[in-house]
Amino acid sequence: MTQHDLVVIGAGPGGYVAAIRAAQLGMNVACVEKENALGGTCLRVGCIPSKALLESSELYRLAHSHLAEFGVTADGVKFDLGKMMQRKDQIVATLCKGIEGLFRKHKITRYTGHGRILAAGKVQVDGPQPTELSAKNILIATGSVSAPLKGVEIDGDLIGTSTEALAYPQVPGHLVVIGAGVIGLELGCVWARLGSKVTVLEYLDRILPGMDTELATEAQKILQKQGLDFRLGMRVTGARVQDGRCVVECDGQPPIDCDRVLLAVGRLPNTNDLGLDNLNVARTNRGFIQVDRHFQTSIPGIYAIGDAIPGPMLAHKAEEEGVACAEGLAGKYCHVNYDAIPGVVYTDPEIASVGKTEEQLKDAGIPYRKGAFPFMANGRARALGQTEGRVKILAHAETDRVLGVHILGPRAGDLIAEAATAIEFGASSEDIARTSHAHPTLAEVIKEAAFAVDGRAIHI
Ligand code: FAD
Ligand code: NAD
Repeated sequence: MTQHDLVVIGAGPGGYVAAIRAAQLGMNVACVEKENALGGTCLRVGCIPSKALLESSELYRLAHSHLAEFGVTADGVKFDLGKMMQRKDQIVATLCKGIEGLFRKHKITRYTGHGRILAAGKVQVDGPQPTELSAKNILIATGSVSAPLKGVEIDGDLIGTSTEALAYPQVPGHLVVIGAGVIGLELGCVWARLGSKVTVLEYLDRILPGMDTELATEAQKILQKQGLDFRLGMRVTGARVQDGRCVVECDGQPPIDCDRVLLAVGRLPNTNDLGLDNLNVARTNRGFIQVDRHFQTSIPGIYAIGDAIPGPMLAHKAEEEGVACAEGLAGKYCHVNYDAIPGVVYTDPEIASVGKTEEQLKDAGIPYRKGAFPFMANGRARALGQTEGRVKILAHAETDRVLGVHILGPRAGDLIAEAATAIEFGASSEDIARTSHAHPTLAEVIKEAAFAVDGRAIHI
């Protein structure tokens, strides 16, 4: 039996980052991953391939619909779906190989196979070479899987999840997306830009639940103009393949006939066949593993991070937890500031958010002041031809501390980093307003929104 200081189960952004940090801290680390490639959902079938397709499809949309505005003529613009997919696969393969290199560099032992915890300190690997590992500590980083929906018969082809929607062999004539969350919008946009008719069915009366309502409503109008047909307040009761086509049924509505269905109604923690029941590891009623502030589960010596535990299902959240958990195991400070974790939806324009929403502040009875500034009044946004959206800053009414920042606009996903830093450092809106921002940049909209908190925006 091989002895390790730490055995990590799962090599997604939570697991592989924890393994690297633990190795940096001098631990003898092993990582068990059931897939051949390292990188998890994020790298293989999530963040990275979706962003590669978003980029290709957006370039096509710009080329055929917007280049003329810039005085550039590009007649007969076409796209090659096969090449787009090849490029995406190449990016994924390169990044997965990169993690292999990082594992070698940090002398992390990699085991390929399904990991199962036999007892605290013992992991069984079922793979090409079944092995039993012994470890001082075990870290569960097994991520999540797509949530099923009653009545929706997934066939892994015409009716599928994000994994299938990242690799459709042809552009679907009519794609029905179930769920107007992050996956539904990002992948809905990819296929709409490439020519699909996209119908998004959402149970709630709004899109992107959890994000700032005002900006989500504005985003919905913009995406609608780009061709996404939103049908809100729709309860999907079933979907199945019939004679090579898909039929989607909703309460009180005629059935919808379409070419493909993308089910995107959330994700569930992946804790199947991990040995948790035998060990009685405490879980929430939705199956997330419960942990304390050091990420230890109810069983001493067994830890968990990432999508498998409660909190936003985001790659960078999993990474933060991986680093914090490894540092805690090495006797260092173990902390993640959940108020400073940004969330980004990579539509065009992007939607980004960090800290509290207005709804959350109202519910908690926290007094706040609000400053907003539109991209329309920003020189760089005008030059880029991307003037939709705005920045909204929420600051405590008495202390002026920044509590939340919400951005709908060009490169919002990059701009939000400044806001996350401000929240992490406990900055006030006055601090942001007094910070010099280069001109002409999109970031000036953040500065102006900070001025607007105090009613003194300059350029409006
Ligand atoms: P995962 O990345 O899911 O990794 C878990 C790993 O554990 C997997 O490799 C799995 O094979 C392995 N595993 C599971 N069980 C076992 C076992 N018993 N034995 C061995 N190995 C096992 N997040 C963002 O922040 N930004 C984005 O842009 C973004 N885009 C996304 C797009 C899509 C389409 C999807 C589906 C998700 C996206 N996410 C995004 C979410 C992000 O992918 C997850 O939050 C992140 O991957 C979670 O990391 P993790 O390490 O907890 O788990
Ligand atoms: P989500 O939670 O973002 O959205 C699911 C949507 O489905 C919600 O709007 C919900 O109201 C709706 N819904 C639920 N049941 C329904 C029903 N019966 N009929 C119609 N609509 C229904 O989930 P997702 O889009 O599947 O994404 C899963 C996770 O992956 C998210 O937590 C997200 O954080 C992560 N992710 C992140 C990114 C990113 O950071 N850019 C991208 C993709 C995925």
